[in-house]
Amino acid sequence: MEVVPGLHRLRTPMTSNALPWIMPYAFEGSGGVSLFDSGYGTPEASEWLTQQLHGIGYQPSDIERLIVSHGHPDHLGMADWIREQSPRCEVIMLGREADWFGHHHGHDGYMGRMRGWLERHGVALEELKEGFRRASSDHAAGDDNRDSGDVSTETERRSWSMPQVKVDHRLQDREVLEFDGWRIEAVWTPGHTPGHLCIFEPQHRLMFTGDHVLSRITPNVSLSEEDEAAGRSPLAEFLDSLDKVARFDTHLALPAHEDVIDDLPARCAEIRRHHDRRLEEVFAGIGDGVATASEVSSRVTWNRPYATFNVFKKRSALGETLSHLKLLEERGRVRRVEDEGVLRWEQIRPR
Ligand SMILES: [Zn+2]
Repeated sequence: MEVVPGLHRLRTPMTSNALPWIMPYAFEGSGGVSLFDSGYGTPEASEWLTQQLHGIGYQPSDIERLIVSHGHPDHLGMADWIREQSPRCEVIMLGREADWFGHHHGHDGYMGRMRGWLERHGVALEELKEGFRRASSDHAAGDDNRDSGDVSTETERRSWSMPQVKVDHRLQDREVLEFDGWRIEAVWTPGHTPGHLCIFEPQHRLMFTGDHVLSRITPNVSLSEEDEAAGRSPLAEFLDSLDKVARFDTHLALPAHEDVIDDLPARCAEIRRHHDRRLEEVFAGIGDGVATASEVSSRVTWNRPYATFNVFKKRSALGETLSHLKLLEERGRVRRVEDEGVLRWEQIRPR
């Protein structure tokens, strides 16, 4: 689909049925083509990208720059393959995002710390072991007959690993990039990740929203172990970032998944209401006494029953619950109660 002359919305396949596609955007230029986001690092996804570039008159070796919304594998995963095809290709992202995903690498203690963090929030050690065991046997099924009772560190690492890519240009918030007659402005939108990038094209009033604003689903906004240590509040940041993009005079918003968005401020308001409801649900989920974030997680509604979640899904549900608890705490509605290394939450009720 050609959005405006010289700008194309492409698509490459994902591996999940819930979110089948990611949409890279291709900006035509005289000496090559520039992309905003790419796709997974799978041969299937690279083949799709190749075919679609052919369709608009380019080869993968013509890719001059890859601008990336954030460090998740469906957005950045193809970067290494692209650089192999086009060694001159510049990889561009916000400096903050580059620091964040760089930090996920080379930390041998990461898995151990992750387990400690899950335990602190009330995930029972037995449940963790069982979860890892099941996840690794699911993963191993079919490709080898490794003892399924053995917890595979490699499986854990693969499931949680982030792409590692050399970043050539570290953008700042509000920095303007000019190339091939295009002019785009960097819009830092932390929340889904700490250095998530949207870009604004003022001539046609286009906002490229990455995963920050999608047409039907809401992005995962989680409080991680690092956020906790750094005192960050990802949901507060995310809500501020919704206001930030809503203030632009946008004609059309172009997300990385699902449909284009005609009314960006209206969609931002809808997502805000979703989190308002979610905050009340999490608050109610604490109940009368005290509850761990893991208990609260199991009491709120998810798109599938919580009981069917494996340890990875539980971790992501826990992160999402914690980002809401953290904001409730900042608003003076809940307080934390620490006891013997386990963190619990309590409602603050007006007397
Ligand atoms: Zn993402």
